[in-house]
Amino acid sequence: MHKISTTSFALTFVLLLAVLACQQGDTLTETPQNRRRFTVVIDPAHGGRDPGALAKSNVAEKDIALSIANAVKSKLESEDCVVFLTRTDDAFVSLEQRLSLAKAAAADILLSIHTNVSADQNKCGLTTFYYPEMKKSRMLDGLFHAEADQLAPMTDLGSQTADFTILKESICPTLYVALGYLSNAADRQLLSDSLFQDRAAGTIANCVKAYNAATDE
Ligand SMILES: [Zn+2]
Repeated sequence: MHKISTTSFALTFVLLLAVLACQQGDTLTETPQNRRRFTVVIDPAHGGRDPGALAKSNVAEKDIALSIANAVKSKLESEDCVVFLTRTDDAFVSLEQRLSLAKAAAADILLSIHTNVSADQNKCGLTTFYYPEMKKSRMLDGLFHAEADQLAPMTDLGSQTADFTILKESICPTLYVALGYLSNAADRQLLSDSLFQDRAAGTIANCVKAYNAATDE
């Protein structure tokens, strides 16, 4: 298991270096047409031996996060962004590896995709977390919630500040998105539905596009 995940991560890194080499080439003859493209790292949380939140019906956070992350990647690539995933399969990747990938990619932003779980089965809705000392993370958070009505009927519970490692140790603006509660029947049904997953991916992609537009110089 460990061997597979190491291989997967190494492949991601090789791909990253290849893309960076291409971009490096661009910068030598930089013109407005070929300037460095906006770079996003999407982090499908958990993976491998770490399933994340689990629902009774065998729905795992790690699978939902990967499925949404893949959809975000394809939506953003058609918008001419450079997109990296911290994992592309069901592999265990440490927080340090996720952060170093974002650093190596010189990511403009990092988005970590999760779902939530609670002992209270009535608790439902989406929420986000950002590190309060990074102003652009707060801005990214605001742009996400401006798009979140697209996720109705899932309730938007608003945002929270936190000092999670992925937020605090990241060198770029970073948002932790917790999309609904797997412990709640209605949220679980939405999160298991491929059409809702695609809407969630669209919401995240729109947030990235809005941030890119707002910070474009
Ligand atoms: Zn999680």
